[in-house]
Amino acid sequence: MDSEIFGFESLEFSLYTKDSQINRRGCFSERAIPEDTFIVEYKGEIISAEDAYKRESDPSRPGIYTFWINDNIVIDGLGNGNIAKYINHSCTPNCYYTFEGNRVLIFALKDIHPDEELTIDYCYESEGEKITCTCGSEKCRGFINADE
Ligand SMILES: [Zn+2]
Repeated sequence: MDSEIFGFESLEFSLYTKDSQINRRGCFSERAIPEDTFIVEYKGEIISAEDAYKRESDPSRPGIYTFWINDNIVIDGLGNGNIAKYINHSCTPNCYYTFEGNRVLIFALKDIHPDEELTIDYCYESEGEKITCTCGSEKCRGFINADE
């Protein structure tokens, strides 16, 4: 039932996780994915900004898997999430996301080869604290945060 979203078929079945050069575990595709193909939805629990701040600063959690839809609505990939929460940030990503209401859909930004790691540009808004980037790209901007 969930394999089709807005007429797009999810490629979630062909994704897997393994250790990543970028950060801990990453999300990889078994098969080649052509540019602009829908890959997977970023699923999780819909929470408020207030809850998101609390969870992001909770050291007992294994990592930050919050995806901000806007200033008030956040998806927490740790609650009822799927494999999309393992997609790491890169300053030169091979995937992008679009919003459909409160849903996040991830597409291929370019042709993706089999067993390539999927990455998106998180584009965090800068609110003071800069988060160091370890994406390893030649064009790495040094921080995961978006430019001012
Ligand atoms: Zn980077």
